[in-house]
Amino acid sequence: MKNKSLFLLMITIENYINGELVAPVEGKYLDNYNPSKGEVYSQIPNSQANDVEKAVKAASEAFPEWSKKPKNERSKILVRLANLIDENLEELAKAEAMDNGKPYSLATRVDIPRASANIRFFATAILHNASESHHMEEGFTNFTLNHPLGVVGCISPWNLPLYLFTWKIAPAIASGCTVVAKPSEVTPMTAYLFSKLCIEAGIPKGVLNIVHGLGAHAGDAIVSHPKVKAISFTGGTATGKIIGRKAADSFKKTSLELGGKNPNIIFADCDFDKMLSTTLHSSFANQGQICLCGSRIFIEKPIYEKFKNALVEKLKTHTVGDPFNKETRMGALVSEDHLNKVLGYVSLAEEEGGTVLFGGNRLTIAGSENGYYMEPTVIEGLDYNCRTNQEEIFGPVVTLTPFETEEEVLEYANSTQYGLAATVWTENLSRAHRVSQELESGIVWVNCWLVRDLRTPFGGVKNSGLGREGGFRALEFFTEPKNVCIKY
Ligand code: NDP
Repeated sequence: MKNKSLFLLMITIENYINGELVAPVEGKYLDNYNPSKGEVYSQIPNSQANDVEKAVKAASEAFPEWSKKPKNERSKILVRLANLIDENLEELAKAEAMDNGKPYSLATRVDIPRASANIRFFATAILHNASESHHMEEGFTNFTLNHPLGVVGCISPWNLPLYLFTWKIAPAIASGCTVVAKPSEVTPMTAYLFSKLCIEAGIPKGVLNIVHGLGAHAGDAIVSHPKVKAISFTGGTATGKIIGRKAADSFKKTSLELGGKNPNIIFADCDFDKMLSTTLHSSFANQGQICLCGSRIFIEKPIYEKFKNALVEKLKTHTVGDPFNKETRMGALVSEDHLNKVLGYVSLAEEEGGTVLFGGNRLTIAGSENGYYMEPTVIEGLDYNCRTNQEEIFGPVVTLTPFETEEEVLEYANSTQYGLAATVWTENLSRAHRVSQELESGIVWVNCWLVRDLRTPFGGVKNSGLGREGGFRALEFFTEPKNVCIKY
């Protein structure tokens, strides 16, 4: 794939079914936009149930052989695929920046390296995974077999396209399942390039099948298909509800990683400079479009004014611009619809009595006048209970709220329907432990943010999700334990 430029021609993306790149059965396509220019630059299959049917058939046929392949061999093939991602880092990062609007530097540092790390992690984890045995004194012994489930569905969102796509398919394939996957229709490009790498890596045909298209058609067909045994889904809470209900009809296992409205709690005794530079990232990285971003910032009263002024000062040099410009800290939002949704929340915040301290507007970038850019935005003066502080905005918008006591800030932090991630800044170890225990959240970062060890459980509580991914838990999800009891 190396050295072939993506940018010369309008690209027609194809599905990857049974080891081949194929057009959708009905020949229908959708426009795919480059958000930094606001222009259509590729066509993606508008796949329907008949495309999903072909993919499920290929995955079903591939399952017996793949699931019985020795772990070493499965591992070797997947490591080869991870290496190919590394070798094509530049091309994949360019594609991600162009498709999503994120800075090319971010895609190069985070998205693409994490995609290969995901595959390498699960490819080698299967070599270390052991099953349990339970000896009984009465002359019996038990042991557990872990059988791969069969054909599984993986559905991923647009914010970290290849990063989250591989986070789902890697444990599925490594554990011996075969997969029908659907990337977001808004950001299909790196999954398409990835399918070419699968061919190059020698992934046996049918082991991974990628069907592009709309959630309501292709996505729904995967979730409804009777031969699909489990759905691993990352996306919005509303979509997660629909998928959960539908999957229940056929008793499919589900792993749901959903939305967040994460608190960033700053105590006056924190290391101010470290907190400020990390808070800049946790608020605005990837244009605020990371499910783990800390969009509700709670600041202890004695440092409220200092923090507010320092954050606003920093934002004056936080460059918004073309993803390929070296100075760019924030690129474009993923789509015009999404930009309008985020801007709508700024208007709502004003209606709810908030004051915009910085930003709040769409930006026009010279040379990219139609791109979907927005200023980083800071709002204060809102009640912790108002809609702006309760609903997921998923953009470059943070709210500032002062607090006086630990009890008060815990009430604010835990007040939403979400519980994905929380950040706490304090140099007081006892307080760090106390607050971490009381936060209703799947993940708590103390004096850091988005530090990931792939062995740890990842996921949310409340309406942020169901189940945990990461480490051996992800492998467990894609397998069914069977207890065998032997009398001797
Ligand atoms: P969506 O829920 O809109 O979409 C996610 C995926 O589901 C897409 O591929 C989408 O297809 C598909 N889909 C939509 N409707 C259905 C359906 N009825 N049946 C099957 N599939 C369907 O999420 P976004 O793509 O907008 O992503 C942003 C959301 O993802 C945010 O809420 C964010 O918090 C969450 N997220 C959660 C993470 C976590 O780990 N907890 C991590 C990252 C993001 P299509 O593109 O066509 O709509």
